[in-house]
Amino acid sequence: MTARRLDGTATAAAIREEVGRGVVVLRRDAGVTPGLTVVLVGEHPASMAYVRAKEKAAREAGMTSGVVRLPDRSSESDILAAVSRLNADPRVHGILVQLPLPPGVDTHRVLEAIDPAKDVDGFHPINAGRLLLGLPGVLPCTPAGVVALLRRHAVALDGKRAVVLGRSNIVGKPMALLLLRENCTVTIAHSRTENLAAVAAEADILIAAIGRPGFVRGAFIKPGAAVVDVGIHSLTDEAEVRALFGADDAKLRALGEKGSVLCGDVHPREGTERAGWISPVPGGVGPMTIAMLLKNTLEAAQRCSALA
Ligand code: NAP
Repeated sequence: MTARRLDGTATAAAIREEVGRGVVVLRRDAGVTPGLTVVLVGEHPASMAYVRAKEKAAREAGMTSGVVRLPDRSSESDILAAVSRLNADPRVHGILVQLPLPPGVDTHRVLEAIDPAKDVDGFHPINAGRLLLGLPGVLPCTPAGVVALLRRHAVALDGKRAVVLGRSNIVGKPMALLLLRENCTVTIAHSRTENLAAVAAEADILIAAIGRPGFVRGAFIKPGAAVVDVGIHSLTDEAEVRALFGADDAKLRALGEKGSVLCGDVHPREGTERAGWISPVPGGVGPMTIAMLLKNTLEAAQRCSALA
């Protein structure tokens, strides 16, 4: 079997176009331009790249986009002060604090300081609680992107067995709740789960969010299952690239040219052989996460203008 592709690039482009149309309508009807501001602390290269991508995507959707850059040595109160200024700024509808924050800063306290109505990452405890209770609220971008990816490829969810590998607050737990909302029968597995491969292999819908390159082998996958690979890793070692991609010339060439190759948590060859559907890395969940961030920002601005 060769899995069909859950194409995140194309699906995200469609959502971004819809968001762009929503921005035009909001500006025309309410005179409001949605604004997204990212708080970036320090100069972590991966964080800087993510922030650039989010800024560009917001501008392309017709939003205003800004970055508050704070030095690596910023204290928790410096970061809280920046968040508080953004909470009070009516031009800013969405606030995102890029994680991870420097050691010594209490991430929970910073996330809790964001106005829940502007919390476009959906990490605030109020939004997390509303998700748990099944109430409307801001949904976290990555898990919401996974559900949108599955739904837009018409993958059946209702009544299906879903297994989520990973129980983090930003991916695994909200992912499980969103699949429950879609009427899946959901299992959450983690590093202490016994017989992990056997548990995973019960899934019609398997979500891999563990942060281990190529960890999910063929034996984890029920033949024909829909597999969504949330993991993202940059491989720089040729032996690692060969172990996951075999003699794939394109990957080895990319390693030579760029110095790294991206992969996910799912073994790319074995995943493609066993699954019915699979999301690629790159081009799967990553673009969906950004599309959902834009959607959340537009909706935050729409709520604001409805209240005005
Ligand atoms: P995380 O906070 O490190 O959580 C990883 C989870 O996986 C934990 O619950 C951990 O279990 C579990 N786990 C780790 N090793 C395991 C193993 N050997 N067997 C079973 N479970 C294991 O990571 P995260 O933030 O959820 O992110 C997961 C991955 O998704 C990372 O690769 C991250 O880069 C990627 N990601 C991608 C996007 C995107 O937009 N594409 C967004 C967010 C995250 P315990 O709880 O027992 O420790």
